[in-house]
Amino acid sequence: MKYYSTNNRNETADLKTAVLKGLAPDKGLYMPESIPVLPQTFWDSLPGKSMAEIGFEMLKHFFCPDIPEDRFKAMVADAFNFPVPVVKVNDRISTLELFHGPTLAFKDVGARFLARVMSYFADFGGKPINVLAATSGDTGSAVANGFLGVANVYVHILYPKGLVSRLQELQFTTLGQNITAYEVSGVFDDCQRMVKEAFMDKELNKEKVLTSANSINLARFLPQSVYYVHALSQIPKEEWKNLVVCVPSGNFGDITAGLVAYKMGMPVKRFIAAVNANRVFTDYIETGDYKPQPSKHTLANAMDVGDPSNFARVSELFGGSVEEMRKVVSSKSYSDEQIGKTIAKVAKETGYICDPHGAVGYAALEDGLQAGEKGLFLETAHPAKFVETTEKYAGRKVEIPARLQKFAEGTKQSIGVSADYRNIVGSLR
Ligand SMILES: *Cc1c(COP(=O)(O)O)cnc(C)c1O
Repeated sequence: MKYYSTNNRNETADLKTAVLKGLAPDKGLYMPESIPVLPQTFWDSLPGKSMAEIGFEMLKHFFCPDIPEDRFKAMVADAFNFPVPVVKVNDRISTLELFHGPTLAFKDVGARFLARVMSYFADFGGKPINVLAATSGDTGSAVANGFLGVANVYVHILYPKGLVSRLQELQFTTLGQNITAYEVSGVFDDCQRMVKEAFMDKELNKEKVLTSANSINLARFLPQSVYYVHALSQIPKEEWKNLVVCVPSGNFGDITAGLVAYKMGMPVKRFIAAVNANRVFTDYIETGDYKPQPSKHTLANAMDVGDPSNFARVSELFGGSVEEMRKVVSSKSYSDEQIGKTIAKVAKETGYICDPHGAVGYAALEDGLQAGEKGLFLETAHPAKFVETTEKYAGRKVEIPARLQKFAEGTKQSIGVSADYRNIVGSLR
């Protein structure tokens, strides 16, 4: 499979280049040249299949034979190693719990998969790969845990001293092995600048392989299409055709993956992109004008995005036509007040505790489901990750899962550095 840039269909790359570069040279995002439509027998055979089996059958079209099938099968099984259950919330609405991975959020899926794909290319390119990531909190933990122990790939996490929460910091500073954390005397922007400067240093890049584990990497969003299809395997077949899938969205990578599954023939009715007060996509669906905005801070802060980086991909899937998009995708935006009220209402009526992101998804289904439809929203993070908000509105204690607690017992190991990228060069492989 070749991958083309959303800025120019003629600008193509092979899998290895697209994965290691992340972004096309013209700054476009890579998209697969074609999306295969899977045969009816595949959809009929879903019930009872594992995520790894479904994943292999879907993803081999994009990743093989660039990666040989037998090797790829093992990589997929290794990446999808935690459960993603569909849980009933009430008679009409269920949720897909994506938070059973190492850092309790759906980003674990993409990070684990990307890590294994990169490791494969390092194996065959000879040189070790250095992944550089600046983080203000959550990305660092998903990337570090996703890449932990993966051969030939070394992760370097740069974070601003004193500006990430203790628990977040422990999630990427206690791991050891192939993960190195740098505590930078500066702010997040300094960390980002250091990473950019390292990428721009020509001499350094001649000597070493440097890459990023950016959320725009195609090997991060494509594997996410698997859990949408795996969700169907857990839902009675007669409900599929009236199923509405609701995705709490920020950078729109997750919903892009869902829409790729749809294009592969996933037999569901439609999608809702649920957003917080950052409503640029909702406005686009309503007006047809895409107008990026500065991001606003909200309770569902992993979705505080004013110019979603995957918008170009979503648009591409519908040939750039908002009319075509509207036939499949609608959107609704929720204020912090509505998010709080939703957490409270769902907890009171059903006993289920939503995290602030999932609450946006639930609310959009409750408002948007039409007669005869059933809804599935994605629970993108465990409520314990946003414990202050969830406990406040749910009015009840949220238990901290053992695997999150476990980080708190580890020993922080990080290298204190001033905000100059040359401080990290010595630790690159
Ligand atoms: C990243 C994130 C989102 C948004 O996903 P996108 O792919 O950026 O749309 C939603 N919820 C949580 C908890 C996240 O971490």
